[in-house]
Amino acid sequence: MIGAVHTVVGAAMGALAKSKLRAFLTGVVSHLITDALPHKDYSPAAELSLLGAALSGVAAWKGIDSPEFWGAVGGILPDAEHALELAGYIDAEHKVFPTHFAAGRYHGRKTQDRRLQLLVTAASLLILLATYKCKK
Ligand SMILES: [Zn+2]
Repeated sequence: MIGAVHTVVGAAMGALAKSKLRAFLTGVVSHLITDALPHKDYSPAAELSLLGAALSGVAAWKGIDSPEFWGAVGGILPDAEHALELAGYIDAEHKVFPTHFAAGRYHGRKTQDRRLQLLVTAASLLILLATYKCKK
């Protein structure tokens, strides 16, 4: 799944979890679920740009001490394995996250259709907006 989608879904799970630890853990679980959905990833450079924008957006909107931010971190952290592989620090067979090993057995199929990713992102943004509390 696109890293930015993992970030937004994790942030939404964090909004529901209400504590930073639960937010982080539910973010990791959300990574399992969203990776299992059919999807199409971007190039590593595009992924990194979108991820940076999404995570910065969550940090700017909710703060780095918020459950939303820690849900986002938990949502994207498993993909650090991909970064480590691209950087040459690990081989594909050394990945440990369930949707990243077993030759993609637990990973969603590749598709050209991005509508499901958009739907998941929109639902997550709705959760973030619905749980938004004005501090004034
Ligand atoms: Zn992943």
